[in-house]
Amino acid sequence: MIQNIAPWHFHNEFHNVPPSGDDLVLDIDENGILLASDSLRPPRMCEWKKAGGRAALTYAFCLTADDAPKNDVGNDGQKKDTDSAVRSAEKTCDERGRAAVPAESDKGRHAGEPAAAESPFRPEAPSWIAEQKSDAAPHSFDSAMSAFRPFVHMFGEMRCFLALRGAGESFPAPEGWVRIAPSALRGHPAPLPFAAATALHLFRWYNGHRFCGRCGSPVRHSNTERALVCPDCGEVCYPVIAPCVLVAVTCGEKILLTRYARPGASRLVLVAGFVEIGETAEQAAAREVMEETGLRIRNLRYVGSQPWGFSGTLATGFAAELDGPDAIRLDTSELAEARWVSRADIPPCPDESSLTMTMISRFARGDL
Ligand SMILES: [Zn+2]
Repeated sequence: MIQNIAPWHFHNEFHNVPPSGDDLVLDIDENGILLASDSLRPPRMCEWKKAGGRAALTYAFCLTADDAPKNDVGNDGQKKDTDSAVRSAEKTCDERGRAAVPAESDKGRHAGEPAAAESPFRPEAPSWIAEQKSDAAPHSFDSAMSAFRPFVHMFGEMRCFLALRGAGESFPAPEGWVRIAPSALRGHPAPLPFAAATALHLFRWYNGHRFCGRCGSPVRHSNTERALVCPDCGEVCYPVIAPCVLVAVTCGEKILLTRYARPGASRLVLVAGFVEIGETAEQAAAREVMEETGLRIRNLRYVGSQPWGFSGTLATGFAAELDGPDAIRLDTSELAEARWVSRADIPPCPDESSLTMTMISRFARGDL
């Protein structure tokens, strides 16, 4: 599944730290995420700045790898704090002639913006602006996997920062770079699809919560947690995650598969739906199956969960048995079809990045 990124590890703890030259920039806009056109990797900050990237950068998450030094241990095996890690990164940039130096004169406003007061993104701490002072050419790598690895070996962790712009601002992909829809990266080597999906989730949340929903004032970034704070009324807004359920309804050697009615939906998938306010995930599973197919279920069994940043959801997967008649009453407002498919007739899944496809494949193998 998309979150299974071994040998990589995902660390989503919030850190109020500035980016340095070798940190990665996850730059998303309506046209997709910015990646190197040859290797499909995100740019390092110094590359991004050199290519004309301008935006406020906020810490998103970091990734470590099993065969690299851990995130809190330096190359010398000594424990190092965040500040020393930053200093180490800056020193490394200096040694390679690619200094990433915070510009004192720019503190308090964001790159590419005339003044902080004009931006809805105003961190309580100064925003971090780095000057690109190098003519060094961007690295090229053979694959997305190999593209990530050098940074992990260099710093013990690969820190990713999210680019945030004002409404209507964009950054067309410069030469050598391309924008690709995060969902189109499914099936690529880990951890790129997961990183892109998670960045997309964060991007949409930041982008859709520029102003306080209570009083309408521009919000600020919290210094202590991943939250947006209203400076006028004190309202605190946390990332929005929508829980949904997936249900593998089985009847002996058959499984219930459906296809969405929306244009372009061609895959056979499981019954799925959002958890409504006031109900449990189990109740949502039974309700969705009944609403979409008119079937009753029993022996509901939890299978697993999955963060799915493409739609901002947390999917919870269940297996259940048919309870009663197997005649389907289709909800044509949501589904184009729903049918019972024998284990032997299940088509091969194009990829198992989603919990839905993983559960269908498991049933086909007799493992669900
Ligand atoms: Zn407010």
